[in-house]
Amino acid sequence: MRSRFSAYCIKDAHYILSTYALEKQIDNAFDEIKEWAEQTQWLALNIITSSTEKLGSTEQYDFVEFAAEYRLGDEVWRMHERSRFIQESGEWRYLDGEIISHDCLKKVTRNSPCPCGSTRKYKRCCMTT
Ligand SMILES: [Zn+2]
Repeated sequence: MRSRFSAYCIKDAHYILSTYALEKQIDNAFDEIKEWAEQTQWLALNIITSSTEKLGSTEQYDFVEFAAEYRLGDEVWRMHERSRFIQESGEWRYLDGEIISHDCLKKVTRNSPCPCGSTRKYKRCCMTT
């Protein structure tokens, strides 16, 4: 979960795609992941809770509930999701997720503090024209 978040932060679409469960890699095109990662600036990740569900004797799902914040254009969004992971070839991979909420928190104005956490004004920091 944290490594996928980090991959979004550095816009590493290859890694993001590779951490989808194999059956989902087909539906999740590299170009779309790349475009989304490039449009968004990921700001914060809060892991709320995680749990495990056994599927017989060896397999299991891992659920991770998290809230992540990102900037898209001049808006800061918060996505609250419960993700489901499955182990494949010894790695935890993202299978799917249930969106609990997905809201715009605020609009960022030119002179407001930059949402990236620097102490600079948005227009002097991450604002793109
Ligand atoms: Zn900034």
